[in-house]
Order: sequence, then structure tokens, then C-alpha cells
Amino acid sequence: MKTETAILDESNIDPAVIERAGNIIKKGGLVAFPTETVYGLGGDALNPQSSAKIYAAKGRPSDNPLIVHISGMEALDPIVTKIPDNARKLADAYWPGPLTMIFNKKPIVPRETTGGLDTVAVRMPSSRIARALIDAAGGYIAAPSANLSGRPSPTSASYVIEDMDGRIDMILDGGDSEVGLESTIVDFTGEYPVILRPGYITAEMISSVLEMEVGIDPALKKDDPSFRPKAPGMKYRHYAPKGELVIVTGPSDKVVSHINELVAADRENGLSTGVMASKETAELYRADSVKALGSKGRAEETAHSLFRALREFDDEKTERIYSESFDETGVGAAIMNRLIKAAGHHVIQL
Ligand code: AMP
Ligand code: MG
Repeated sequence: MKTETAILDESNIDPAVIERAGNIIKKGGLVAFPTETVYGLGGDALNPQSSAKIYAAKGRPSDNPLIVHISGMEALDPIVTKIPDNARKLADAYWPGPLTMIFNKKPIVPRETTGGLDTVAVRMPSSRIARALIDAAGGYIAAPSANLSGRPSPTSASYVIEDMDGRIDMILDGGDSEVGLESTIVDFTGEYPVILRPGYITAEMISSVLEMEVGIDPALKKDDPSFRPKAPGMKYRHYAPKGELVIVTGPSDKVVSHINELVAADRENGLSTGVMASKETAELYRADSVKALGSKGRAEETAHSLFRALREFDDEKTERIYSESFDETGVGAAIMNRLIKAAGHHVIQL
């Protein structure tokens, strides 16, 4: 299959390109598109064959459900059985934006889209390109991140091309993703709302809107694989770079000296090395490739550059990668969740 790429300007979107892309999705094809979180791989959410194509293009296990993207609140009622008051409150506060909510689905949503579940994940993105595409495609786009299964989510069109060229019909290039991490997922199908995946919308932000403490899926806190996460996707190793990634945590000066010792030993063994650090500490490392993700205390910067850094190490063929750990408050919880998965839980505690 030949994959067409079209560059779009978010502030001046070419309607002809959007119409062409929308028609591809309406006819059962696949279009990758920018959102504020990461790039999505879109197909018609109400067409079971489109969802099957998405799984095939990504190499994604078919029990891992897709998120349905809508552009307006009126699109929610036709696909879910009930909208709890708390979900409405969160929608008022954070939609459009990097928040996904899980509801019980109506039969119109095929099980192929929901990985066989009776529940459906729904998000209203804020990206203007994404919203225009959703409208042009008929209102419901199923879209997981546009990476091959297991690889870091793509935060620019060039990474989508790397993974998806020849596998999908079209890629809309809208520049770099603003947030850089996937949406926060909140489950509204139980008695209380529960966070299934941390993201840019933090537990603190949700609790303050709902005026109650929001729960967190216990599987997120455990290293024990017998704890089954409620979001099926959270059980897979994800975001992994091709090199071996290890997180080193502890007092900053000890972390720096220990990573430099590990780097020196790897070098003796002829291995190429990389480090992910804060802007403040990056210059202290002696690795072949050192990436400053963001300033301490500015978690959004680190969130924005994490997946890009992991992909750059792949491009550089880095064999051993060491990462500092980052403060887990606020967006930091999402950063550490992705980083620990990328490292396959390999953490050295000093
Ligand atoms: P991605 O599309 O790559 O951002 O992944 C979507 C995430 O949403 C995966 O972790 C899925 O397991 C999760 N998800 C989607 N639908 C549901 C659902 N109905 N119930 C629980 N988790 C879901
Ligand atoms: Mg993904």
C-alpha cells in the first residue's frame, strides 16, 4: 500500500485535505493524525472491519481496546448507555483535552473496537486538525497511538512514517504533539471513578473537580504481574527502546556517580551508552549521548520530550540507556508510569 503524507497547518487547515482524509476513513481506510497527546491511527469506530485493520497495522493484540474519539458532547449519548454526573463534570472541565473516560457501551459500538468488552473508552481531543477529521469522517474515529505495538508512541509525523509507511492510507502531518504523553484514562463503569492510566490530567486535578478523592487502579502501583490492570493495554511491555533501559533512583549526587560508573564499564565492553537526565544534571554525565528531558519542577517539559528521546536512542543505535527518575507528583506520575514500563521494571535503587 502507498501511504500519502499531507502537511497541515493547525491555524489554517486545508479543507480539501481533511475531506479526502475523512472519505478514506468513511470507506474503511486508515489515516494517522495529530492530537495534543500523541499521533493517533484512525479508522471508523463503528465499522468492525476498520478496527480489525487498525490492530493489523499496529501488530496490536486484539484484546487491547481502542479509544473512540468524538468532536462534540452530542456524540456521546448515542454510543454509551449512561453518562454519570461525575463524568459530565469532568467533561465540562477537561473536554476537549487529554482525558479519556470509560462508559458502558451501546450495541452500535462493535466489540472489535472495544477488544471484546461491553465498555467503551471515549475522548474528545482539543487538536483542531483531529476535530476537523472526526467531523469529516462521520463523527466517530477509533484511534490508538500510531506506533507499532510495543514501540514508544509517536510525537511527530516522522515517527509515524517510520512505523506505518506502507501499512496505512494516509498520514496528516501537523507538527510536534504538544503534551507528548497519552491521555489520562478514568473508568466510570464502577461505583466510584478510578484512574486506569495516569496522564497530563492529574489525580489532583480530577479530585478537585469531583470534590472527592479519585481512586487509582491498584495494578498501577504493583510490580506483581498477577495484579491484572483494568485497562488491558497497561499489562503489555510498552514504549520500549531497542537498547536496554535502566532507571537509577536515589540522592542526585549518588545517581550521577553510579550512572557514570556503569557507563564507564559499558564502554570497556565496547557498548554505546546514553543517559536521560534533567536539564540541571545533564552536563554531569559522560555517556556517548546525553538527553536533557526538562527542568526539574517542570514536568510538562519532561513529558513532552520523553518519547522523542526514547526514539532518538533507537536512531543512534544506543545499546545501554540509563535514566534518572523524576518527581512523581502531578504529571510526574504519568512520566514515571511510562518510564518504568519502557524499562521493563528495571530500577536500581541507591
Ligand atoms: P492507546 O490507544 O495506545 O492510547 O491505548 C488505549 C488504552 O486504553 C489501552 O491501555 C487500553 O487498554 C485502554 N482502554 C481502551 N478501552 C478500554 C475499556 N473499555 N476499558 C478499559 N481500558 C480501555
Ligand atoms: Mg499506545
